[in-house]
Amino acid sequence: MDILLDIMEPGQSPLPHESGPGSRKRVVGIDLGTTFSLVAAIGIDGNPSCIPDENGDQAIPSVVHYGPKGSVLVGWPARERLVQHPESTIASVKRYMGRGVEEILNRSGALPHTLEAGEGGMVRILAGEARVSPVEVSAEILKQLKYRAEEALGGKLQGVVITVPAYFDDAQRQATKDAARVAGLEVLRLLNEPTAAALAYGLDKGHEGLYAIYDLGGGTFDISLLKLEKGLFQVMATGGDSALGGDDLDQWIVDRLLAGMEITHPDPTLIQKCRKLAREIKERLSSETEVTFELPDPAHPIPNRTLTRATFEEGVRDLVWRTIPICRRVLKDAGVAPDALQGVVLVGGSTRVPLVRRMVAEFFAREPLVDLDPDQVVALGAAHQAEVLAGNEPAEMLLLDVTPLSLGIETMGDLVEKIVPRNTPIPTARAQEFTTFKDGQTAMAVHVVQGERELASQCRSLARFELRGIPPMTAGAARIRVTYQVDADGLLTVSAREETTGVEQSIAVKPSYGLTDDEIADMLRDAMRHGEADMLARLLNEARVEANRVLAAAEAALREDGDLLNETETHQVKTAMLTLWEATQGESADAINERVSRMDVQTRFFAQRRMDRSLQKAMTGRKVDDFG
Ligand code: ADP
Ligand code: MG
Repeated sequence: MDILLDIMEPGQSPLPHESGPGSRKRVVGIDLGTTFSLVAAIGIDGNPSCIPDENGDQAIPSVVHYGPKGSVLVGWPARERLVQHPESTIASVKRYMGRGVEEILNRSGALPHTLEAGEGGMVRILAGEARVSPVEVSAEILKQLKYRAEEALGGKLQGVVITVPAYFDDAQRQATKDAARVAGLEVLRLLNEPTAAALAYGLDKGHEGLYAIYDLGGGTFDISLLKLEKGLFQVMATGGDSALGGDDLDQWIVDRLLAGMEITHPDPTLIQKCRKLAREIKERLSSETEVTFELPDPAHPIPNRTLTRATFEEGVRDLVWRTIPICRRVLKDAGVAPDALQGVVLVGGSTRVPLVRRMVAEFFAREPLVDLDPDQVVALGAAHQAEVLAGNEPAEMLLLDVTPLSLGIETMGDLVEKIVPRNTPIPTARAQEFTTFKDGQTAMAVHVVQGERELASQCRSLARFELRGIPPMTAGAARIRVTYQVDADGLLTVSAREETTGVEQSIAVKPSYGLTDDEIADMLRDAMRHGEADMLARLLNEARVEANRVLAAAEAALREDGDLLNETETHQVKTAMLTLWEATQGESADAINERVSRMDVQTRFFAQRRMDRSLQKAMTGRKVDDFG
């Protein structure tokens, strides 16, 4: 086949929406993580910060629970149900994004859920009574972050930047964008996680060179090598282990706890308690050298209730060490020596473990950058990029990303002709000319593939279409120009045109496991229908927060002024508190609010006495003043 190579000018990056003077756009950055997700925005001081929930927590667990009658819980309350209701609670859905059933089953072992292939091969997860796609599950997490941000920023969001791992392919990126659409968010740009981390450190500002981004999260390890030069952030190489992270460190402590209790067949509740405790111990050991802990179960004493950092580090050394050969391979892939690096950035909660820092420092022979909170750094960088894309902040330099994998076309004999090679800066458009190989051929099949393998059947198939209506000509006479256009999010449009007749076909590449537009429309309709349920969930949340505030205040009052009450009265106050606490465990906002008012009435006498006491104190104070 006769192939002419022809590279067109890269498409101009579309400028962000115009904004008049003083009209800042309300935009945020979102780190949609495997175990935790966060949202960040730029404050009045021009610095990004993560937006906390009512309890001051910045991260929400990326967990969604599907309860009876279509109820949905997201974040901490969902995570609490993970052990008791694994079949109706979905964690780490990011691992399923843009993947087919076969692919998921091949990658992971036993799953707590049944998966089925939906339309177009897309996965549906059976979760309790719900049948949901990974896109919908992710959308629930995004919605939660959206509410939080809109509450904090005082209005509807006008755009978001969402981060994705550098190795995410077209299907996974498209799925992430679809999730945002379902959540009612406008995506300004998808941004690679390591690039976001580099931006958060301001590495875009006059720091040319090579950087390694070492990201150890809850369940995954990623290492990326970034090259910064003249406004170009290029992912040189990536590597990782999708089954290595903080969860494994927790597991080491869990095993130790169970061994200490001499339990071989623990029940799920006990395991849950041990996991929670293990995570607490591990996180405390990052700042303390020794931790003494409460028993997970008083019925099973543990002879030694202290764990030293030294013992912990010895125990998990091999686990952490597993990241080092991966780093070495990535450097080797890129043909770079560790000392050629300009810097190493730490990302992910697990890089707070001192042993991790030491090993990284030793391997790369330099102290890593740790000034920014490693849990937040990706979200902070995304917020920064959102601000630039919204036109709120002038771009110090144009941030260009690159294609993570080559995009090609299948040619005769299962071969691949690469049209956009990997690491091409995006947005880009490239074209190649093909011709017919048979006399009188009137149609040509275009098979779009992604990957680095030589055979089309070994690459990922993205789309197929046919260019029809080619006038019959002798073999080799037709001139068919195939153009691949990749937008700033890394998404592809392919068109084919027969030059002599102008016959044209084009398709926006819908990855094999993506959603059809109809499906997205359905989901949006659904989302609107469920608007009421979302509202109820929010009211419930607010009621719980208020109740917890009241309970905390009552506890403090009992601590400080409990002596004002006799035994019966103390009992009365505690009963009111208990009743309210029980209501917070239920699902009814009205019931909680009602108990809050009732408790207010039932404990008014106590409040009155406390007021009298503080008045008295104040008066005494004044007298002293007066006489002084
Ligand atoms: P992901 O990117 O996988 O969604 P994160 O980057 O937020 O997740 O990392 C979560 C992991 O970080 C959890 O395993 C958590 O226990 C761990 N982690 C958080 N804080 C600390 C700490 N102070 N010390 C050790 N590990 C921590
Ligand atoms: Mg992460």
